[in-house]
Amino acid sequence: MPGSSEGPPATRPVGQGPVALSSPSYWLEAPGFSPCPALTGDRTADVAIIGGGFTGLWSAIKVADAAPHLRVVVLEAQSAGFGASGRNGGFAMTMVGRNLHDLVRKVGRRQARLLHLQMVKTLAEIEDFCQREVIEAGLSRPGLLTVSNGPEQDCRIEQDLRAAAILGLTDFRRLAKEECRELVAAERVRMGHFEANALLVDPAALVRGLRDAALRRGIEVYEQTPAVRLRSRGGDLRIETPLGSMEAKQVVIATNAYAQVVPALRRYLFTVCAYITLTERLSPEQWRRVGWERRMGVEDKRTMPHFHRPTADGRILWGGRDAPLLAGPPDPRRDRDQRIFQRLEESFRWTFPTLGDLAIEHAWGGPVCGTVSCIPKVGWLRRSRILFALGYSGHGVGPSALVGKIVRDLLLGRTSELTQLPIVTRPLTPLPPGPLRGPLLSASQLVLQRADDRSGGGDALSRLALRLLQ
Ligand SMILES: Cc1cc2nc3c(=O)[nH]c(=O)nc-3n(C[C@H](O)[C@H](O)[C@H](O)COP(=O)(O)OP(=O)(O)OC[C@H]3O[C@@H](n4cnc5c(N)ncnc54)[C@H](O)[C@@H]3O)c2cc1C
Repeated sequence: MPGSSEGPPATRPVGQGPVALSSPSYWLEAPGFSPCPALTGDRTADVAIIGGGFTGLWSAIKVADAAPHLRVVVLEAQSAGFGASGRNGGFAMTMVGRNLHDLVRKVGRRQARLLHLQMVKTLAEIEDFCQREVIEAGLSRPGLLTVSNGPEQDCRIEQDLRAAAILGLTDFRRLAKEECRELVAAERVRMGHFEANALLVDPAALVRGLRDAALRRGIEVYEQTPAVRLRSRGGDLRIETPLGSMEAKQVVIATNAYAQVVPALRRYLFTVCAYITLTERLSPEQWRRVGWERRMGVEDKRTMPHFHRPTADGRILWGGRDAPLLAGPPDPRRDRDQRIFQRLEESFRWTFPTLGDLAIEHAWGGPVCGTVSCIPKVGWLRRSRILFALGYSGHGVGPSALVGKIVRDLLLGRTSELTQLPIVTRPLTPLPPGPLRGPLLSASQLVLQRADDRSGGGDALSRLALRLLQ
């Protein structure tokens, strides 16, 4: 690239453009799914969970397994997986927050190690669960290759490797340029690290499989059922929905970026709009050109990273980079952005010049729930029996299963090693107040992106922007 070794050129060769989808993602287009009926009439439950994504469904399943006598219900505004859970890249990683180095800096060595080990265990549990429950979620364990495309990214790879060594973790392996290129023939890669624990999944198949596993346990799942109001009534909590109501002893808010409608949470959360493109199916000859025989997920080390992976039906999913930050809840108009799709196509072609003849067939976007620290949070709303669980900042596929166990322990009043993790104990950091919030978030994103595109984010302005987001 002119003037930089780290990103694609600003001018572009563009293909035909992606095909419009009738659902929010390619994954959610899969046939054979029918939503559960909406809630009608007035009902009661012990635990009512608002939100039918990974967080809500894992939480419901974990509570029901631990306390089968409790009546657990899930209320989902659209259908299971409509939010980020049915639209993501399907990387289930050990990563909590931004990266291992950053995690150590924020929570200290002991807690970072505990979190990492809990995530290793949780990923193995996801595999076991899918096997036991016969969930066909295209699950594989090819590991995660993290690569550098420039000097600044080299430093970040080294920082992660140093953090892993300090924590005594043996599951990160340094890879030289040639070793990376043996794994996937992306010509511009300079070095990387490999972690074997990471899974790849079809996220919509997984979240829909979780819904079915919940139903098998007697959990009531109501789709097309937005919670429109939540109020205390006597000793109980009452959730109002368009066609009925649910009274419950405890409520869990598992609505991710949509939780910004809750006044008590608004000042801690922002929405990150994340985007993905998907190529047509590769021919055997095209797969030979890229190598990639082990078909692992790949991420680069920009501050706003690119990620790519093969899909079970022989395509390449390519996403990341442009990620506008919004001060407010998700705006469905942001789910499609042709300029961003175009830039993703450019960076795809820059990374895989040998696949210049490959068409981009699909593209979509979805809302990520950002917090200042990027570390997810489970906590009680003040003086209430309302728990909230959210804020994965784009890394929730694996961690939501850990969060489900934390929600279980907190709802059942158990003190466990999970309830001592920073996901529970670390307070949320407030964002700058009202009118300043939007402009500061936008400015931070632009600075980081420009730094990524030019030299890799080491200058003073980008350090300042990163600070705002920490
Ligand atoms: C494009 C993209 C790529 C991503 N890639 C990855 C990745 O590869 N790996 C990774 O780890 N993470 C990734 N993520 C992030 C990951 O998808 C999320 O962290 C995770 O899915 C969060 O799950 P959740 O259940 O908390 O939220 P969601 O899946 O967003 O679920 C929240 C649900 O709440 C429902 N809801 C909202 N309001 C109401 C209401 N009032 N009443 C009832 N229901 C309501 C919504 O309809 C939604 O279904 C990506 C995200 C996006 C958008």
